[in-house]
Amino acid sequence: MKKTVSFSKNAINVFFHILTSCNLKCRHCYINIEQHGKDKLPISTINAWLGIFTKKSIKTNVIFLGGEPTMHPDLSLAIKKAGDLGCDSITVDTNGYLFNDILSKVKPKDVDYFSFSLDGATPKTNDWIRGKGSYDACIAGIREAVSRGFATSLIYTVSRANLHELSMMVPLIKDLGIHRFFIQVIGLRGKSAGDGPEKSQVLHSQWLGAIPDIAQKVAELGVTVTYPKVFLDSKEEFECAGLVAKNYFIFPNGRVYRCPLCEDFPIHSLEIKNSKLVNTKRINESDLFKLNIPEGCVMNKLIQPENLSYNKDGMPEYKIACCLLKEEIKGTTH
Ligand code: SF4
Ligand code: SF4
Repeated sequence: MKKTVSFSKNAINVFFHILTSCNLKCRHCYINIEQHGKDKLPISTINAWLGIFTKKSIKTNVIFLGGEPTMHPDLSLAIKKAGDLGCDSITVDTNGYLFNDILSKVKPKDVDYFSFSLDGATPKTNDWIRGKGSYDACIAGIREAVSRGFATSLIYTVSRANLHELSMMVPLIKDLGIHRFFIQVIGLRGKSAGDGPEKSQVLHSQWLGAIPDIAQKVAELGVTVTYPKVFLDSKEEFECAGLVAKNYFIFPNGRVYRCPLCEDFPIHSLEIKNSKLVNTKRINESDLFKLNIPEGCVMNKLIQPENLSYNKDGMPEYKIACCLLKEEIKGTTH
């Protein structure tokens, strides 16, 4: 059965971009070099910054990101440091190329999940979005990780270019031995914020018509599935994670955001200076979080108003949920 996962108030989630460079050039890449630079953090800085966010009094989940985090030669040291600091879970998001022989440098006990990104069930669709050869590399990476005993998850970012292949992921997930499946919605950040074919969000009806049903089928394989809630009906309560949750999106230039939809703009509410987390000057993203509007998420209304729809009284037909609010269907087997 699906359930909405409310924001955790008893854990810190650290989304740590340790570098911004990548070997791929995905059409929907959300990395914005103009805003976040090209730095690769030295391991001493990664360790110091991890120390800022790990506290004995509260659980910390760390997700190492890039760019492609396995291109960082010291990723294995960063993983071990996160373990030494007592992080509750450690995830590495990867495009599957698994550089620097990372699977040989860490053990399954060191990493909770290697999380692979695949945006099509066939090479044709995936490689149109993510680049030639990326399907084969990702599949090979997953098979290698599974064969070495690592837990794996798969992220499928849904757009109009690949929605038609989402149902084909069900047998593929079974074949690969994936442990968790994340369906993501394409966000208007980075390259997909432009006007080209990359800007290809699915419609309200397409989302509700396809996603819950396919998620259920994957869950019946015994794989837990998570996908964004996206739409709230008028009776459902809206909450902004920026106000109620402890999420930190860290970039190598020291910017720290509380909301991923704000990442294309210099409105981060925190930054790391001299290895200390400090507030930035107002006005920043935190001022937006407090605005209470009938459409739900303020950032959505500012950057992607086209996914809103109004009735004849001028009221929104539905609210847009916080992009961090998820539905989860626990894996079940018959
Ligand atoms: S793998 Fe990730 S970081 Fe690399 S280009 Fe694709 S979306 Fe961007
Ligand atoms: S996506 Fe919207 S609701 Fe969620 S943290 Fe950002 S501004 Fe708040």
